[in-house]
Amino acid sequence: MWKMSDSIITADGLVKTYGDFTAVNGISFKVKKGEVFGVLGPNGAGKTTTLEMLVGLRKPDGGSADIGGFDVVKDLNNVKEVIGVQLQSTTLFELLTVEEILHLYASFYKKQIPIQPLIADMLLTDKTKSRVKSLSGGQKQRLAIALALVHDPLIIFLDEPTTGLDPQARRTLWDIIFSLKEKGKTVVLTTHYMDEAHVLCDRIAIMDQGSLIALDTPSELVRSLQSENAVEFRFEEDSAALDLNTIEGVKQVGSQQDAMILYTDQLQTTLTSLIQTADSHGLKLADLQIRTATLEDVFIHMTGRSLREA
Ligand code: ATP
Repeated sequence: MWKMSDSIITADGLVKTYGDFTAVNGISFKVKKGEVFGVLGPNGAGKTTTLEMLVGLRKPDGGSADIGGFDVVKDLNNVKEVIGVQLQSTTLFELLTVEEILHLYASFYKKQIPIQPLIADMLLTDKTKSRVKSLSGGQKQRLAIALALVHDPLIIFLDEPTTGLDPQARRTLWDIIFSLKEKGKTVVLTTHYMDEAHVLCDRIAIMDQGSLIALDTPSELVRSLQSENAVEFRFEEDSAALDLNTIEGVKQVGSQQDAMILYTDQLQTTLTSLIQTADSHGLKLADLQIRTATLEDVFIHMTGRSLREA
């Protein structure tokens, strides 16, 4: 039944509007079989809405999408058999035990996998007989992923799987996502953490205000800046009169809250010129940092805002 093609998901001009407001504004992309595909963007960018249209929870107002050759609107029943979905708002039955809730979910599907190995894969073996309400945030999140896997889907959708988790619980979840990829699953996840997108994803679609503004591998996205380094600083005094583009070696100028960012691949030249320029204007530099350019910088370059403040 499967179409033999490289891509397993195709979104073609997807649109979602709420009254006069366009939450998703005609986005198109393809997801390749076996990849971890990230949708990165600030709060309100339209990531969840996009994911909900792909899994059949919201009907697109325009465009279409297919998963494994099945249209997500017309062939939803077929789509449901091959996808597993973990949403931000997954409500779990608090009084059931871990194994009870997994058996319940498994009973909804024709195809099922053994529950105990699934519990072990999600590092929940010692919680098998615990009630859901007694689990920590990270354990609940891993249970939600287990529930998305009970019917052995080919494609797993995870909506902000690590939001609200502590660093250790986040890392555990990253390992689980890596192991899903190793098993040949295709994973589509949304996140607003750039470090997470960089580490986990083979390719990343960056969304902002309902539109897809970039799509590539993390390293190609960063390379598109054509600058290896970011020099971040503040001036202690008003520097409105100074044009930072005149500083030597600067390819681009960005800003984040009250900090200025210079992108350069001639670090020494830029630093020398920055200090000389500051001196000649009587300006004092503060909070100077030099770092390698990141996905956050790609977003700043494309939108003029940072992922955190957007
Ligand atoms: P977050 O990280 O906060 O979940 P997101 O990128 O997933 O953000 P969406 O949840 O897809 O963003 O929301 C996109 C926009 O659509 C937001 O401005 C949101 O307020 C709006 N929106 C979402 N659902 C509805 C709805 N049912 N009615 C009206 N507006 C909505």
